[in-house]
Amino acid sequence: MPEVTSKKDVQTLPINPDDQWAEFRQIERLTLTLTQQYTHTLGKYSRFFIELENRRLLGTRCAICERVYAPPRPLCPDCLRPTAWIELAGTGTVRTFSILHFSPASNADVAGLKTPYCFAYVLLDGASTLFPHLLMTDPSRVAVGMRVRVAYSDHAVEHPIHLMHFVPLE
Ligand SMILES: [Zn+2]
Repeated sequence: MPEVTSKKDVQTLPINPDDQWAEFRQIERLTLTLTQQYTHTLGKYSRFFIELENRRLLGTRCAICERVYAPPRPLCPDCLRPTAWIELAGTGTVRTFSILHFSPASNADVAGLKTPYCFAYVLLDGASTLFPHLLMTDPSRVAVGMRVRVAYSDHAVEHPIHLMHFVPLE
């Protein structure tokens, strides 16, 4: 239900005697606030995020073509078969990256990022696909071929993908 959060004013518009709605020309202006709560599920990807809370990084592996998906895919797009969960070591190599000079305000996890910051595509050890995520380090240090590892968040996050990010492996 909308909640009235303020009442601005009452306006009385000029009355035309021929107007059949003359008695209804007083207009009250209100500000209504509508709060909605959503229940959301991450579906077949849920276990990936649950294990991030346990500081474990999972990918999925296709038993037919042996490709390892990280981020995980429940279904191998080439073989059209369900994949199986496997644990990855969480280390990898930067294959490409961008340095960003603005911080999107899309959610609290990224709104406070100090610019510039790095967004990298990492080939995790044991994986066949690139994993895109934040690489938290001095952007001037980042290079293709740089070794990185997964680090886990030690604070509450708005979106569970921010339970993890990459940092240099050193
Ligand atoms: Zn496959």
